[in-house]
Amino acid sequence: MPARRAFLLGAGAALAGPRAAAAAAPPLTLSGTITQGALVIGRTAPGAAVSLGGKPLRVDATGAFCFGLAHDAPPTARLVVSAAGEAIERSLAVAPRQYRVQRIDGLPRHFVEPPPELMKRLEQEYHLIRAARETDSRLPHWQGGFVWPCPGPVTGVYGSRRILNGKPMRPHFGVDVGAPTGTPVSASAGGTVTLAEEDLYFSGKSVIVDHGMGVSTLYIHLHELRCTKGQALKQGEVLGTVGSTGRSTGAHLHWGLNWFQEHLDPALLVPPRPGPPAPPPRKPPPAKPG
Ligand SMILES: [Zn+2]
Repeated sequence: MPARRAFLLGAGAALAGPRAAAAAAPPLTLSGTITQGALVIGRTAPGAAVSLGGKPLRVDATGAFCFGLAHDAPPTARLVVSAAGEAIERSLAVAPRQYRVQRIDGLPRHFVEPPPELMKRLEQEYHLIRAARETDSRLPHWQGGFVWPCPGPVTGVYGSRRILNGKPMRPHFGVDVGAPTGTPVSASAGGTVTLAEEDLYFSGKSVIVDHGMGVSTLYIHLHELRCTKGQALKQGEVLGTVGSTGRSTGAHLHWGLNWFQEHLDPALLVPPRPGPPAPPPRKPPPAKPG
């Protein structure tokens, strides 16, 4: 447990004499935008203990670590790094984001309100996806940068509040890329396939790739799978093709990014691409209850 390890290191430093006890605070650098929905990568001294909001984060042998900021993360996050009895605490200012409202009408009713007899299947599929995202491997690929998984314009952005057939749903946790059926889809970073499913109710043919330390990417509505569970992929290696399987209104790739169960915005990791036109100015959102 990182906290205990820090304590032991601290005790050792104290025994070694006042000189060691006066060691400098551990280094800390962060990369990535500190904003809602962001994956943030940090570096500190190997062996340092890091916690975010009081929860320990895993630090690899080189001192690298990462964490995700939820789409509705509060305005500050508290990061503590300790090594050799010294600790630094940093309060991170998390930039808020304005999310769009996306209305999609004309979806088949059974996709918006699944019939009760489907509940068992949906629950199984939910747990399958959750388990893949819980993978906590030592793969280093989360540190190597990400690329767009296929060509095409952005047709749907992260965080949009979705109203399907007039019914408010959970936000859109991913980026949609418009491309014709059959367009190759490739891994946006190297990793291991932790889910390759032919027929999930909402997402159709679906792939999840683990990049290490809880970071994974998701590729859904595929026309064809070109990978199998357990397969190692290099960045840019084809894993399937664009399609419209599952709950989809036309050929596109839905690309997702997760840090464990936290849904993040993959578009923050890659060069910007043209997206849908900005929505017209709207009335302020209604006050949140409570
Ligand atoms: Zn989507």
